[in-house]
Amino acid sequence: MSIKLLKQALNGHKPLTRMWREQPLKDHYDVVIIGGGVHGLATAYYLAKHHNITDVAVLEKRYIGGGGSGRNTAIVRSNYLTPEGILFYDESVKLYEDLADDLDFNVMFSQRGHLTLAHTDSSLRTMRWRAEVNQIQGVNSRVIYPAEIKELVPFMDLSDHPRFPVMGALYHPPGGIIRHDAVVWGYAHGADTRGVHIQQMTEVTGIDVENNKVIAVQTNRGRIKTGTVLNATAGWCSLIAAMAGVKLPIETRPLQACVTEPLKPFLDTVVVSGTLHFYLSQSDRGELVMGASVDPFTSYSMDSTLSFMEGLSGHVLELFPSLAKVRMLRQWAGLCDMTPDYSPIMGFTPVEGFLVDVGWGTYGFKAGPVSGKRMAELIATNRTPDLITAFGYDRFFNGTLVGEKGAASVGH
Ligand SMILES: Cc1cc2nc3c(=O)[nH]c(=O)nc-3n(C[C@H](O)[C@H](O)[C@H](O)COP(=O)(O)OP(=O)(O)OC[C@H]3O[C@@H](n4cnc5c(N)ncnc54)[C@H](O)[C@@H]3O)c2cc1C
Repeated sequence: MSIKLLKQALNGHKPLTRMWREQPLKDHYDVVIIGGGVHGLATAYYLAKHHNITDVAVLEKRYIGGGGSGRNTAIVRSNYLTPEGILFYDESVKLYEDLADDLDFNVMFSQRGHLTLAHTDSSLRTMRWRAEVNQIQGVNSRVIYPAEIKELVPFMDLSDHPRFPVMGALYHPPGGIIRHDAVVWGYAHGADTRGVHIQQMTEVTGIDVENNKVIAVQTNRGRIKTGTVLNATAGWCSLIAAMAGVKLPIETRPLQACVTEPLKPFLDTVVVSGTLHFYLSQSDRGELVMGASVDPFTSYSMDSTLSFMEGLSGHVLELFPSLAKVRMLRQWAGLCDMTPDYSPIMGFTPVEGFLVDVGWGTYGFKAGPVSGKRMAELIATNRTPDLITAFGYDRFFNGTLVGEKGAASVGH
């Protein structure tokens, strides 16, 4: 527990101060970050904290956390497939482990373990492959079999009754879930107290480029001069990039999720099935949080659909038939910026001063801390940190993709 929390508990309920303030919009900032999600806010926080760069504005067209950062199902893990991906996400898990202390704000990180089920020989082979690459990079993952899975998830049907019986699983003990709003608010608070301006209801409508260099952004509240713009707008990132004349290899797709009514605690791991297309965890309030993979079409709609709910429920019930009478509480959708290789795009673009931290697809919440830290380092030093060189924009032109689809599609 952080010192601040302990003090608050002992001092009774004093009125809390605002997490971030409304500030006047200046007509110049050294750095303009577009997008008030975890990526934009974390970058602003680390710019101020690690590099003393505080003349920074985070421009958010609605409210902070209103994009994917407030709509995700908050799974955090690092059991990816490629060495580049594993090392990168592992740094994020480590930052998350210390984040409550760092921000002095409880982000409720629960490292309860993460299971990716294998229902076929080929998926079991992929799990073994992932376990080996994880272990070589020092990440705690191993393949386990039904007897051990039964101990971890006693309510799951491990018989041969389901259409695709469970043959094994990739078990990743450090994986878990976190309180996504708390992470967003904590970063916003940390950035605000160090002098960053968080500008909500401020929509970027254009980017001025002269001689291939960014000189300003246009917003619904006026023009802001700046030489450095970071595009951290996830599902909207290709629209923002187009304003600077940069074409991104990204498609925006909706991703849906839902929660049930609260139940007594019975599930204390995260369970993912790529074959059956679902994942499931139980929140601290007892609700079952469930989701699947992206909708199979390009769209900016954040409506949810009955067909998604029907498909998902059927698949969950295959392995958890005892949930048949549980009622759904709510359903929602967010926008995901999908790249061809299921890895992000981070760093410089052909337009000087126009930087990207995008391509976060269905898996970017867990990467908030490491991306923020490393993008801040890139901005401060004008050099790409080694940890993120593999995720450059240029990989789509020189053919060095970082294929993570096998570890990122349903698992998030
Ligand atoms: C249902 C669902 C479940 C998910 N589950 C997980 C999970 O379990 N684990 C995980 O790691 N990831 C998950 N994700 C993915 C994750 O939510 C995103 O990758 C991540 O939140 C992206 O963060 P961000 O800060 O880059 O973008 P966002 O949080 O989307 O923020 C971008 C912001 O940009 C703003 N913006 C857009 N256009 C403009 C403009 N013109 N001017 C100003 N502001 C603008 C938007 O309003 C938005 O607030 C999930 C996503 C969804 C939708």
